[in-house]
Amino acid sequence: MSAILLNGTEIRKEILAEIQQEVESIKAAHGVVPGLVTILVGSNAASLSYVSLKVKTAHSLGFKEIQDNQPDDISEAALLALLAKYQQDESIHGILVQLPLPSHINEKVVLNAIDPNKDVDGFHPVNVGRLVIGGTEAIFPPCTPAGIQEMIRRSGVETRGAEVVVVGRSNIVGKPIANMLLQKGPGANATVTVVHTATRDLAAHCQRADILIVAAGVPGLVKPEWIKPGACVIDVGVNRVGETVSPTTGRTVAILRGDVDFDEASKIAGFITPVPGGVGPMTIAMLMRNTLNSLKFKLGI
Ligand code: NAD
Repeated sequence: MSAILLNGTEIRKEILAEIQQEVESIKAAHGVVPGLVTILVGSNAASLSYVSLKVKTAHSLGFKEIQDNQPDDISEAALLALLAKYQQDESIHGILVQLPLPSHINEKVVLNAIDPNKDVDGFHPVNVGRLVIGGTEAIFPPCTPAGIQEMIRRSGVETRGAEVVVVGRSNIVGKPIANMLLQKGPGANATVTVVHTATRDLAAHCQRADILIVAAGVPGLVKPEWIKPGACVIDVGVNRVGETVSPTTGRTVAILRGDVDFDEASKIAGFITPVPGGVGPMTIAMLMRNTLNSLKFKLGI
């Protein structure tokens, strides 16, 4: 392998240590800590595991963290009332509603009811608008794209003037990362192309990318010959391609693959993210950073 590995688990550790230090100094100077509430409706196993990781991470950083679990049959009105309670709570700076919600609740109505100034996931239309405007307006970049940008920044790869190709145009990855990288300023200022299912020649676009970001959810979509030698390849895809028994725990675990053929691509790329252990671990670090920033905006620091 010739590419430099961008290890999301290691980068996350660095970022969390930086956040923890900042939390301590804000606490010493202002007597407050970031407050995050995580609302979980029902008992979906995957959601429970995501939420407990978020809660554990927030606690480890010294945040105030409330995990508010609600039953499957909570009404939409009751959920909205709960949100209203946390919007008014001065000690809460970030509100997160874990998706998916049960089918009797309209997700859009709930997400749009979150105060944009506490919307640390960055999915409220107001925050999407702020992201497109860019600069100091973009207060809560969505966590996965923010993690991608941070990985590129910390790798030292130049984004200014770089040809960036983003594969995928979803609202949670493709569109926001494209918007973020085309803004003026450090860690951005790139020439961005977004390709998708209607793109005529995917290979030709990928082949001229200095930075190739792939978020399609199709295992092995990007072929090694589509990669420009020395390019920075960020593989966002997480695809379950089978199951295996873990030699350490003896439990059945999913075999995960990205959208890029890692073994072959890493012989050509200059930088590459693995799956798992690449972009995935960054998302939670960015959620913590958004929550810390929410407190900092409030304090005007
Ligand atoms: P999505 O299904 O909402 O969007 C996929 C996009 O890829 C679509 O815009 C589609 O046009 C494009 N696409 C699909 N097949 C294509 C093809 N053959 N050629 C060209 N374009 C194609 O998915 P998403 O939510 O953006 O997620 C994408 C992948 O990233 C998934 O594997 C998901 O699991 C993963 N993901 C990982 C993280 C993380 O690690 N934290 C977060 C979000 C998503």
